Amino acid sequence: MKLWEFTGHELLEKLAHQEITQEEILGALDKRREEVEPKVKAFLRFEKTPGPENLSGPGGFQGLPIAVKDNICIKNRPVTCASRILEGFHPPYDATVIQKLKAAGFSIYGQTNMDEFAFGSSCENSSYFPTRNPWNLECVPGGSSGGSAAAVACGEAIWALGSDTGGSIRQPASFCGVVGLKPTYGRVSRYGLIAFASSLDQIGPFARDIEDCSLLLKVIAGYDPKDSTSANLSVPDFLLSLGKDIKGIKIGVPKEYFSLSADRALEGIAQEVKQALEEAIEQLKKLGAKVQEVSLPHTEYAVSVYYILATAEASSNLARFDGVQYGLRTEAVDNLTEMYKRTRQAGFGSEAKRRIMLGTYCLSHGYYEAYYLRALKVRALIANDFADVFKDFDCLITPTSPTPAFKLGEKIQNPLAMYLSDIYTISINLAGLPAISIPCGFSSGGLPIGMQIIAGSFDEEMLFRVAHCYEDSTSWHKMRPKI
Ligand code: GLN
Repeated sequence: MKLWEFTGHELLEKLAHQEITQEEILGALDKRREEVEPKVKAFLRFEKTPGPENLSGPGGFQGLPIAVKDNICIKNRPVTCASRILEGFHPPYDATVIQKLKAAGFSIYGQTNMDEFAFGSSCENSSYFPTRNPWNLECVPGGSSGGSAAAVACGEAIWALGSDTGGSIRQPASFCGVVGLKPTYGRVSRYGLIAFASSLDQIGPFARDIEDCSLLLKVIAGYDPKDSTSANLSVPDFLLSLGKDIKGIKIGVPKEYFSLSADRALEGIAQEVKQALEEAIEQLKKLGAKVQEVSLPHTEYAVSVYYILATAEASSNLARFDGVQYGLRTEAVDNLTEMYKRTRQAGFGSEAKRRIMLGTYCLSHGYYEAYYLRALKVRALIANDFADVFKDFDCLITPTSPTPAFKLGEKIQNPLAMYLSDIYTISINLAGLPAISIPCGFSSGGLPIGMQIIAGSFDEEMLFRVAHCYEDSTSWHKMRPKI
């Protein structure tokens, strides 16, 4: 086994036993990156190796490198959200998660590609280049955190951070065969995360197994007075959830997502995904869980509600990029209004423009009540569906995405088809709940398939407990792409 193939906790153990050195790990990752990065293109930029100060840095993580999605601010380094409009902007401060990573002894060595402003499900909306799926270079890695997922999958990174507004951590994790977790809204500070839709966004970890994922969440979670929506709750020691059995745990399978009876399933689910999920459910039953069908009756409205609320919030959040304070400014114009217009015209890509127009429309006088306000009400109904189910169940299981990774170019001309690839992940952001995607199989074409586990508010411990028990009894997470 090569060094880049090990997980973070395995490397930390080797370091503790002085079997390897930090320099050897960094060297192995650099070499791996040189081999695969020209094909995968996961990074927008990276520092080749971290400074020596990190090699013996504080905290337990001993300078182990971590990749970060390019919408999280790192002091004095460029951040672009894969958009032209932020070109030249260097944030003067660290996001709270970056401060926490640094304090824990991580070295932040690379910033990963994404869909522009996290708008997308394939990483093709990056203004720079698309990232490719390490399992099949003709396929997308998913999105919007596709760069982070691909980097972890092919061993360019041990672990990474992403952000998830409607599925952007879980869907690429499932497409790339890695673990990806969206924490409960409020669990991780959003301070320094460039906002897409503030009421839905959360930062979360990518890793190759549950132990690494739980270690990383423990580092980045916690109350932050700089984020008024961050929850003032203590952060449990998630490692304690690992290794517990799941005998008697009550798992619900929402029939609107995925039916246990053979004839019904949400339209568009691939047969292979359905089959992988059925096998995973059988495995969970063998491990002692009690599995039962449940209903989330307002599911059919989730995608519509999301695209009203998310675009409304995005149009407001993106209003600040006008050529005055951040990044790009179009020169040679006569007046201020012209400067705003030309800058935004040149700086935003087509999906960003589509979302600004949709969002502005939904918020405009006369349409606000009909669209935005109504969507808010349906959002409450969707959240109530989950609250009702979690009175009787410990967690829910669904596919993460209806299909395995699709080909580059396949959906880019059809935004609606693209929007539907998040059909299983979006409601969870609307309800503010935690959910994780873990590998649970492969398609006949050799592409990974992911299973989503959803828990009640602030019950990430349940996600880790169920996910770890399943992982321990299977070997999907040990598979590595042959690239
Ligand atoms: N694919 C969804 C969108 O385009 C979700 C993206 C995200 O979670 N950032 O809005």
